[in-house]
Amino acid sequence: MEMMQPNMEYSRAAEAVLSVVIPAYQEGGHIRSSIGVIEAVLTEHEIPYEFIVVDDGSKDNTWAELKILTDTNPKVTAVRLSRNFGKESALCAGLTYAAGDMILVMDADLQHPPELIPEMVKAWREEGIDVVDCIKNSRGKENPFYHACAKLFYRLLLKTADIDLENASDFKLMDRKVVEAWKQLPERTTFFRGMASWVGFERKQLRFDVAKRVNGRTKWSAYRLLRLAVNAITSFTSVPLHCITILGILMFIGTTVIGIQTLYMKFSGRALNGFTTVILLQLFIGSAIMVSLGIIGIYLTKIYQEVKGRPRYLITKCIKGGEKK
Ligand code: UDP
Ligand code: MG
Repeated sequence: MEMMQPNMEYSRAAEAVLSVVIPAYQEGGHIRSSIGVIEAVLTEHEIPYEFIVVDDGSKDNTWAELKILTDTNPKVTAVRLSRNFGKESALCAGLTYAAGDMILVMDADLQHPPELIPEMVKAWREEGIDVVDCIKNSRGKENPFYHACAKLFYRLLLKTADIDLENASDFKLMDRKVVEAWKQLPERTTFFRGMASWVGFERKQLRFDVAKRVNGRTKWSAYRLLRLAVNAITSFTSVPLHCITILGILMFIGTTVIGIQTLYMKFSGRALNGFTTVILLQLFIGSAIMVSLGIIGIYLTKIYQEVKGRPRYLITKCIKGGEKK
């Protein structure tokens, strides 16, 4: 595999271009105004920029709005995926189009405050930071059950894969070389936050308060969140598979103890009143086997998907701003 030159340095001068990558799904109502707000911040701080907006197969007027935008704004590139592939895939598509010296990833709904961008760019320019991670100050108002699930998920990832994603967000500024390294990772099912942490490099954290969504509503249903969590865990750790082995060993120890007891009862002529044990054991073994098979199944599906080697996304249209189509 072709790797980047480790010492390849890009100019970190004031004229370095910032590529802003924005995935957008059903954001037609506010996408143009959101970009306007971000653009105002960039112009005010004299940061050269380009926008890559990826329409993740929206069914509303997002693409029409993006078309209007590219007609009038030469700095916007609009890419449309052939269907809704999900945010992770949309991000991948956006990153391959980004041509700047530094690349910023943010949401279309202004939940990631644009006022933070100048500070991120400053860290990249002046402190030689390669990745600026923006950490959520609090998760905002949330259902307590979701909150508990999220906590469990982060704890599991930290303990088993040594990846700390608590309060991490997809609001990141990355140096070109980090994105190049990220693009070399071959997996088909991606988990951006995890992979962006896995690559390493000089990092810095900034904190921000999650703003309220400007318009529309979140697209993350409980099911989609669960799918993302399972995907993240199976991508970064095989500890659940080892748990099965440990469970097996514990079961074996238990079986030996109960086996001896059963034999003792039989030989001392006191057998027959052991039905409770039998039933409990049956239930326990049954469920343990089911869970174990399930975990193996999840990893197997993952291998199956990777082996198929399908592309992460398909693009139907791409309009570079200024070019008439
Ligand atoms: N998004 C996407 N594809 C999807 C779902 C979401 O590209 O299938 C984008 C969405 O347009 C937004 C970002 O991902 O720019 C975050 O989505 P959302 O605001 O719904 O999530 P939340 O902020 O609630 O986590
Ligand atoms: Mg949002």
